[in-house]
Amino acid sequence: MKIALFEQGSIGTNCYIVYDESEKQAFCVDCSDKISNAYFDFIEKNALQIKYLLLTHGHYDHAADILAFTRRFPKTQVVISQTDYENIRQRKSVFCESDAFPEPSMLVNDGDILPFLNSSIKIIATPGHTSGSVCYLFGDALFCGDTVFDGSIGRTDMATGSFFEIMKSVAKIASLGDYALYPGHMSTTDITTQKEMNPYFR
Ligand SMILES: [Zn+2]
Repeated sequence: MKIALFEQGSIGTNCYIVYDESEKQAFCVDCSDKISNAYFDFIEKNALQIKYLLLTHGHYDHAADILAFTRRFPKTQVVISQTDYENIRQRKSVFCESDAFPEPSMLVNDGDILPFLNSSIKIIATPGHTSGSVCYLFGDALFCGDTVFDGSIGRTDMATGSFFEIMKSVAKIASLGDYALYPGHMSTTDITTQKEMNPYFR
């Protein structure tokens, strides 16, 4: 399995394409508010079938260009947490515009499992940055959105954010074991490194 990273959109969101080269099957994590031509070209040049677009949360910088994605790949199943979809529907600030957001294929909650090839993707609820933030665990990779960054954590001062909740979510992530971390912004890292140097993990 390979992971391609495209940093794109107005504030540099990490958009991941996880794919199997021989099977040509893939899933994407977040799409940003402005998908680049390079991102679409990569999918098309590699002839990838995108089974899922997994959204870590409903903030505009992670998801606002979703219609460009679904128009290009109409068979892709859009996956978002039930809570953040409700946040979008309620038009909370900094979330995607609800009229620019398609009906999701699937609303997920903590512990849900999505099949992918001969494996599965596990949903881990990590509220705090938004009330419906989730991480997606696949193989040895944890796609953690804006919950954890290399050396810091996500903001909790926006709508539905909670510092108390994000600290509980950080503890939950720390307890998972040693997984590689693929955050929504900035560099990739791993849980062991964060336990050593991230002040929020102490
Ligand atoms: Zn965010």
